[in-house]
Order: sequence, then structure tokens, then C-alpha cells
Amino acid sequence: MKICRTLTELSLALAPFHAQRDDMLALVPTMGALHAGHLSLIAAARREAALVAASIFVNPTQFGPNEDLARYPRDEAGDLAKLKDAGCDLVWLPSVQHMYPQGDSTLIEPAGPALGWEGESRPGHFRGVATVVTKLFGQVQPQLALFGEKDWQQLQVIKRTVTDLFLPVRVIGVPIAREDDGLAMSSRNRFLSPQERALAPQIHAGLQRAAHAIRQGETPATALSTVEADWRAAGFEPDYLALVDEASLERVNINRPGLRLLTTVRLGSVRLLDNIALAPM
Ligand code: AMP
Repeated sequence: MKICRTLTELSLALAPFHAQRDDMLALVPTMGALHAGHLSLIAAARREAALVAASIFVNPTQFGPNEDLARYPRDEAGDLAKLKDAGCDLVWLPSVQHMYPQGDSTLIEPAGPALGWEGESRPGHFRGVATVVTKLFGQVQPQLALFGEKDWQQLQVIKRTVTDLFLPVRVIGVPIAREDDGLAMSSRNRFLSPQERALAPQIHAGLQRAAHAIRQGETPATALSTVEADWRAAGFEPDYLALVDEASLERVNINRPGLRLLTTVRLGSVRLLDNIALAPM
């Protein structure tokens, strides 16, 4: 596995692959602190592409002033060992200076699916995401890029950015990797206390209950408010729970194909994201 820390190392490592036009290069962007969810993206990339590159970059521009950039978990040695085991071919480890050199003046400002939900809870977040992902695509020039469905809104924002900027990369979403009890894997789960960790599976269970009720004909408004009330009674603080169009992220009030249930709930100091398709799995 090649480890690249400078743009020169990156272009030297990529040159043979870019020369072989038939071989697909896939990129899996991450912020490190890797778990089995991230590794499922590497596995999916390996099924699709001859060469798999991962990037690890904790992107400061997607964190708000009051967010957890400083306490974001970092474990470079552990991450590199996991990526190697997972069969990753190349890791790109840029510094903040590589991504945002002096004089850097361009931001990508996504609208559409970036509005509302995480976009509203975290102003500027998707601007940081769209900007850094566009930069990574420019540096690595993959034909394929894989993102987790766990961050459903992010996945739609990136698809929209790629479409709108005519970027020559195919974006693939990978299903959410969950713990056995249903909790979506996340690098933030480590911040849950044992009591909070024991409660956390109720997020996925609540989403499933709401989806079931809506499929059985209950109005979305009733189904969602019942689950929100259950969550509050159990000690969660929901930021939002919504039925949305899976691509535009606009709120929808009736059951039809192409919908997603989307939520972020706070449990203690931790924000946990989850979502499920409304259609039967
Ligand atoms: P992060 O390092 O949190 O920015 O995540 C990097 C990529 O891994 C993103 O595309 C995430 O959506 C994806 N990811 C994180 N957790 C999971 C999970 N539990 N299942 C699937 N993909 C995930």
C-alpha cells in the first residue's frame, strides 16, 4: 500500500494507473478514525475498481466554530493498518496546507439538497464538504468515488455537485454498516457513555417503527411525532426526524416511491445520524 503525504508523491504513485486507461481508479474519502463502516466502502470499491485509493483528511472547513474539530478522533497508525488489511492500494494523507494553500480563494456553495436538515443545523457544513471533495477529485482524478449512505444528505449533495460541475466521476452510495443491535457505525459512537450506548439502538428501531406505520397507512405526521415522543421519553433530543424525497431532500407528506426517513438525534453531547428507505427492504 502506497502512502502519499505530498502532491508529488501522490502524482508519482498515481501515474502508472492514470496511464492505464482501462483500469478503474476508485477513491474513498474519509476523515480517519476508521471502523467497519469505512472498510465496507473499501470492500465495495475493490469490487468495482482495479485500484482503490483512500484519503484521510479531517477537513476544518466542514466544522462550525462550536463543533468538535479539536476532539475529532485521530489514529493514523491504526487507520493505515486497517486500510492495508482491507486491500487498499494507496492512501492520500494531505495536510491542511495541501488542501488550502495560501491564497486559496474558491469555495463550492451547494444549494438544493444541501438546504435544510444537516445544512440548517450546521451552517456552512456542506460548503466545506463539497469544496474538499471537489479538491480531492481534482488531486486524485478517480473514475469512481464511494460514499456511505449513513450520511445520506451528504451523498445527495456530492451527487448534485458532480452533476452540476460536470465532474468526470461516478458517485456510488454504499449501504449503512450497523452494529448487531442496529446502531449505525460512526466514529462518534465512542463518545457515548455505556448507558447512552445501551439506548442508542432505539434510533434505528424508531425509524423502523415509523416506516412500518407509514407503510401501513398512518399519516407521516402522526407516525413521526409518535416516534419523536418515544425518543424524548427515553432521553434523546431529536434535531429533526423527517420523511424526505431521497434525492432532493425536500420534505414529503404522503407515502410514494423514492422516500427516505432522515434523522439526527442528540444523546448527551453526541449527535447521531441515521436514515432508512421507506420502501420495504
Ligand atoms: P467520515 O470519515 O465520517 O467522513 O466518513 C467517511 C465515509 O464513510 C463517508 O462516506 C461516510 O458516509 C462513510 N461511513 C461512515 N460510517 C458509515 C457506516 N456506518 N456505514 C457506511 N458508510 C459509512
